[in-house]
Amino acid sequence: MQAAPQPQPGIMDIALYQGGASKVAGQTDVLKLSSNENPHGAPASAREAAREAADAMHLYPNTDHASLRAAIAEVHGIEADRVICGVGSDEIIHLLCQAYVGPGDEVLHPEYGFLMYPISARAAGGTPVAAPERNRTVDVDAMLSAATERTKLVFLANPANPTGTFLGGQDLVRLADGLPDGCLLVLDGAYAEYVEEYDGGLGLAGARPNVFATRTFSKMYGLGGMRVGWGYGAQEVIDVLNRLRGPFNLSNVALAAAEAAMRDRDFVARCLATNTAQRARLTEGLRALGISCDDSAANFVLARFADEAEALACDAHLKSRGIIVRHVASYGLPHCLRMTVGDKAGTTRLLEALNAWER
Ligand SMILES: *Cc1c(COP(=O)(O)O)cnc(C)c1O
Repeated sequence: MQAAPQPQPGIMDIALYQGGASKVAGQTDVLKLSSNENPHGAPASAREAAREAADAMHLYPNTDHASLRAAIAEVHGIEADRVICGVGSDEIIHLLCQAYVGPGDEVLHPEYGFLMYPISARAAGGTPVAAPERNRTVDVDAMLSAATERTKLVFLANPANPTGTFLGGQDLVRLADGLPDGCLLVLDGAYAEYVEEYDGGLGLAGARPNVFATRTFSKMYGLGGMRVGWGYGAQEVIDVLNRLRGPFNLSNVALAAAEAAMRDRDFVARCLATNTAQRARLTEGLRALGISCDDSAANFVLARFADEAEALACDAHLKSRGIIVRHVASYGLPHCLRMTVGDKAGTTRLLEALNAWER
């Protein structure tokens, strides 16, 4: 009998992505704070649009996403022609790697960078390279020293996941200015909506051919299950990515839900207000209990414990009360638990559970 085919180099080096758990054995009233989902759920406007679009599920979706791109462009004041929509921003990250990375090429990301960066780099046959961070914050100098002529892509989530820390505009410009020719800086703005007065890198991506911005509907817009994200950058990059993108990558239902959510600015304003208030409560509550955490710019807080054993003990205690948070050992932070900011009731429940924890 013939042997099975061998996969391309790099593929077997990929560590499988582990999503946040959603169930606890024996618990019916579960509070899931492990995947940075929106505690308000999806906007009613998006659920209604999805229901209507579902009636046309026998029809192929449009391939150019023109209507969704127009909504994105209007809301953000950017050029619709320079927007590409994908199956989550994960697909945009994947397309960027497929397009610009091959064997011998390097993909640079910060030490605690989002796990999809090394996964997509390896899937394309490239080599992920991690630059050290300073106090869980991206270190621009370390990133610049790690960049070489082999570096094709530099991924930077801002705010960062799982640390929640944030780099200001001047640091971003310094990074973009200092990178070698032919290297694309990708600013992952998955949590950009949670930062007031931050454009998620859209200004830089609009003005500079070596900067690209990615965004998602999975967090602030409450559509994690719909799988819609987008990217914005130079026309030539968009033209490259569109050749790789599947023509029907987004369903009718997903397109309709995302467009309605993008236009629902009241929903976004409401979610922002909840997150800002409850994030402050959670941060102060943790610190009052002697659990350290950095100021977060996102919709989660990274709680730091004395060691991994203590983090796991707290995780087990929370689970026993039906609360699921994320132990982030796979990010190189085994002594940390990432806790998504819930709504007011969820935050109260989490703080009460933490208060009752006996170290
Ligand atoms: C959640 C997240 C995303 C979004 O992924 P989608 O595929 O759009 O759901 C992207 N980048 C980071 C850093 C994230 O945490």
